[in-house]
Amino acid sequence: MAAEITAPPYRVIPIIPALKPGAMEGVKPFIANEKIQADLGFPGELPEDWKERALAKMGELLKKYRSLKVYLDACVHCGACTDKCHYFIGTQDPKNMPVARQDLLRSVYRRYFTLAGKLFPKLVGARDLTKEVLEEWYSYYHQCSECRRCSVFCPYGIDTAEITMAARDILDAVGYGQKYSNEIIGKVHKIGNNLGLPGPALENTLEGLEEDVKEDTGVDVLFPVDQKGAEILLITPSADFFAEPHIDGLIGYAKVFHAVGASWTLSSMASEGANFGLFIGNYEQMREVALRIRKAALDLGVKRIIVGECGHAWRVAYWNTLAGIGAGADDPFAVQLQSQLDPRYKQPTHICEYTWDLIEQGKLKLDKSKNDQYKITFHDSCNVARASRMGDEPGGQFEIPRNIIKAVANNFVDMDENTIREKTFCCGGGGGLLTDDLLDLRVKGALPRMEALQEVADSHGVNYLAAICAICKTQFSKVLPYYGFQRGMIGGVHQLVSNAIILPEQEQMAQQEPVEQQEQ
Ligand code: SF4
Ligand code: SF4
Repeated sequence: MAAEITAPPYRVIPIIPALKPGAMEGVKPFIANEKIQADLGFPGELPEDWKERALAKMGELLKKYRSLKVYLDACVHCGACTDKCHYFIGTQDPKNMPVARQDLLRSVYRRYFTLAGKLFPKLVGARDLTKEVLEEWYSYYHQCSECRRCSVFCPYGIDTAEITMAARDILDAVGYGQKYSNEIIGKVHKIGNNLGLPGPALENTLEGLEEDVKEDTGVDVLFPVDQKGAEILLITPSADFFAEPHIDGLIGYAKVFHAVGASWTLSSMASEGANFGLFIGNYEQMREVALRIRKAALDLGVKRIIVGECGHAWRVAYWNTLAGIGAGADDPFAVQLQSQLDPRYKQPTHICEYTWDLIEQGKLKLDKSKNDQYKITFHDSCNVARASRMGDEPGGQFEIPRNIIKAVANNFVDMDENTIREKTFCCGGGGGLLTDDLLDLRVKGALPRMEALQEVADSHGVNYLAAICAICKTQFSKVLPYYGFQRGMIGGVHQLVSNAIILPEQEQMAQQEPVEQQEQ
């Protein structure tokens, strides 16, 4: 399959792609089997009364989320969003225009939930819900990474991501779940992380990391697990425990904690920060996955929760009424945790906020020249850029990671302003699409980011693409070679921190060396 996949040619920017109707028709991820579905409480296959169930679910969501109804009613088909989606740009399929994607659900909504659609369906673009429509939903709602870029350009602020989530929620309710996402959620419920990595395997991995860091630096940097009474609970994507380049980021966090003598721990029960409940648009699943973190924090008695480099984990944690880890939630466990956490800190804190705060206070010793081999640019990850914040100032989520990079490295350049910050393009693998059964879509969806990267590679010799999202890191590792880049040019911000940081013991050793040399 991979051999047939080729990257589309770069465009002259900006250019609206020519249409290729039907180009991605029928492209879809594997459907979850009965067992995977049953583990999450969803039907295992399409039931006979699927249509009634689908419409009932749609009605339930319309009542529950007023925003969904507003989005389905408000679009005036102005066209401002049409060329803003990376999947439309990369595939040229008109159904990947955000407005067309919305219309797949909107047309059925109109038919069954509006008077005009019930009386004059053809006049208002309403259509019946048929098996073909259901198949079309499954295909095109899995060609949206819920990145929300289109909503930045919509004069009404219509959020296609929310419509995609509703469609996926309806699909799950009739047994049409996506294998990749639902299988992962099942593993989190059973074992505690996306990989299904049991506690002892996690401990082994972390011990191996301690040895690696010792060999590299001569310093005993610890990676503690399940340490009761630790001050900080770190939640991070499980890719940080084993995958390249993610693992170098985890080493970076550990070195930062070590450098300031912080007391921290991971949790074997909630080792995973990622939350695929967000991707399938199912609030109950999202909450259940998130609540492990609350339970782990209560069991360990921590005072602070810090989230590692994971875009959507940060989004879910940031909106912390969901997990009850910050102010806002009022159930007994949330209240108990809020009284346990230290009110002097933001709960939760992003690892970048934590590190930047230490840099600003002058508490980290850094040698920028250790990153001199790199010309660095920064890819803003969608869920951080458009669905959360960092720090106390608006736009902190854009500035803080860039500030860290500039503090630990000498060579930084931004990509085209229309492709970064709020207008950043998705990596092409977000929103539950990071699966090889969608590799062709992922390669095509990466086109706008690759074009912007090529520009700075040509003009400034950029050879390091920094990101603070596990999905972006994995996606870029896979698709960079399709565009002629080295796979290894993607890395984390804390990987750069790890390179530059001078640990207190290293500083002491460096001071002792000249004395010893003099004595000899
Ligand atoms: S992938 Fe992003 S830009 Fe495209 S339709 Fe979905 S939310 Fe909008
Ligand atoms: S920009 Fe907004 S109003 Fe205009 S077509 Fe797109 S979704 Fe509809």
